[in-house]
Amino acid sequence: MPSFRLSALALALVLSPVHAEQASPAKPATEITRERNQAWLQRLPFADRADFDAASRGLIEPFTGVVENADGKPVWNRMAYNFLDGNAPASVNPSLWRIAQLNNIAGLFEVRERVYQIRGMDLSNMTLIEGDSGLIIIDPLISTETARAGLELYYKHRPRKPVVAVIYSHSHVDHFGGVRGVIDEADVKAGKVKVIAPEGFYEHAVSENVLAGPAMMRRAQYMYGALLPRGERGQVDSGLGKGTPSNATVTLIAPTDLIAEPLETHVVDGVEIEFQLTPGTEAPAEMNMYFPQFKTLCMAENATHTQHNVLTLRGALVRDSKIWAHYLDDALMRYGDKAEVLFAQHHWPTWGGGKIREYLADQRDMYAFLDSQTLRLINQGLTPTEIAAKLQSLPPRLASKWYSRDYYGSLSHNVRAVYQRYMGFYDGNPANLDPLPPEDAGRRYVAAMGGADAVLQTARQAFADGDYRWAAQLLNHLVFAEPDNAAARQLQADTLEQLGYQSENATWRNVYLSGAHELREGVAKSRARYGAPDLVRALTPSMFFDYLAVRIDAMKAADEDLLINWRFTDLDEDYALTLRNGVLTQRKGSRHAKADVDLSMTKALLDRIALKETGFLKEATIGGIEFESGRFKLLKLLGGLEEANPQFNLVTP
Ligand SMILES: [Zn+2]
Repeated sequence: MPSFRLSALALALVLSPVHAEQASPAKPATEITRERNQAWLQRLPFADRADFDAASRGLIEPFTGVVENADGKPVWNRMAYNFLDGNAPASVNPSLWRIAQLNNIAGLFEVRERVYQIRGMDLSNMTLIEGDSGLIIIDPLISTETARAGLELYYKHRPRKPVVAVIYSHSHVDHFGGVRGVIDEADVKAGKVKVIAPEGFYEHAVSENVLAGPAMMRRAQYMYGALLPRGERGQVDSGLGKGTPSNATVTLIAPTDLIAEPLETHVVDGVEIEFQLTPGTEAPAEMNMYFPQFKTLCMAENATHTQHNVLTLRGALVRDSKIWAHYLDDALMRYGDKAEVLFAQHHWPTWGGGKIREYLADQRDMYAFLDSQTLRLINQGLTPTEIAAKLQSLPPRLASKWYSRDYYGSLSHNVRAVYQRYMGFYDGNPANLDPLPPEDAGRRYVAAMGGADAVLQTARQAFADGDYRWAAQLLNHLVFAEPDNAAARQLQADTLEQLGYQSENATWRNVYLSGAHELREGVAKSRARYGAPDLVRALTPSMFFDYLAVRIDAMKAADEDLLINWRFTDLDEDYALTLRNGVLTQRKGSRHAKADVDLSMTKALLDRIALKETGFLKEATIGGIEFESGRFKLLKLLGGLEEANPQFNLVTP
């Protein structure tokens, strides 16, 4: 029987396998890499240590240990990063090393009276606001384990008052996944705890990672360096924080209160909060918050100490940097003259009105720059790689600010993302309209260059010259032409590794080093992942049918014609599905006059099937699913569904 398991379980980023602990085959930095990394020390104001002061300010208790799950497996191991001490080694870009150290300052912090943060115990921050009678938590981290540990750390130092509200700042999993670690759903249902979110939160929380979920999850392994050992030749950071937890329990409780107006003011447990919706910025559903009593501004993930992603390397719909800049300006206008401290849901806060205004204005300019300057060059006829080559830096004053650096997003990939947003995949050059795929092109390039040995020789020279980007392009042709060519794989691994060592961007480093690792060691088998039943339950029938459609091989099903009436009795919802020309389409709230398949079931049962608690075939047999007609036709269709490949190749064909 087909598995209905929506393999990504929507969660893309998280549930990565346990970090490889084996001896790393990583090689040292070359002399050229060492020199290039050294040159960064002159390029940026390393003597400015203000961020270290800010990142340590208000520290109540550092977190230095390990958070484990119920099975005793490590979820979060702060000690894996103890190597981040002293000056940058030759194998790490000094600017990245610096933020890796900053992100390593972990524990419980007082931001100001009644406002506390847990930082460095997960990828994101958990903010705790002390209300009149209880606690308001903004963003309960990714996993229940880390969230609970964070809350306990807070209670060690502060009164053990109940959590009376959770606010989700936006729809990404690192901002809600730990919710069941800090509140009980029974209390939510009893009206004792509010869950507040921006409009669209619940749908976006699950939808962004469903249809392309398996592929996003695979690429997220690269982006966060999930398979890499931690160390100066391995993963050192993720730009936004250290990394994502392993073996973690991800949960979701639906919001009880949605913020739907551009600006809404609510009083929660005596705390006045002005919510500023910022849809379509860093996440499709996101909001900033201003606390007038505390003169404190929460910028969610819209303004962090990095240039963020217009398009994340794990893959996503491209974001709108112009809207992003617009909402940053809006926040500056509304709160710039009032706020005494600004915090976000990653990194450390900024104190002082002048600094806050400069920070918001700079962040606004950064996202506006990405948009307008890419468009300017598009209109000069430049193509994505040319624009990335031309825009090597932000304007000098902005580029010298640490919070504009390329730690998570990068100028290079963001300008290409802006190109993609406006212009799409085609660069306008007909020679690029119908290129040969990598293996076909690789074989021809290798032949044209005089065979594998000649390519290797040229690539070795490029490597020796420190021309690593060129070496990587050359060797990619050879590896795709001859995936078993051990010398080519090794040299490509060495090449990607040096590129990783030189990267200022944490995610670039992680993808380069992950590629090198897999060229040497092969692709690790997929391991058991911890599920997220809440996210499966949050999928609507429409999302479910969309994902079903993605798993049908149209050529194999090309001759099938099937009209399906599918009713969910507990939702009182009908869906009319049509399989025609190998594609499955759906109409909500509709029924075919005469269907080949007619069935009814509960959505709750569908969830149980998706979670593998029971089987579709079994339920169809014992009557959990009721068929008016067409049982075998539907079973045949489901039996032919294609499974996604969770560990597909990236650096080899
Ligand atoms: Zn985040």
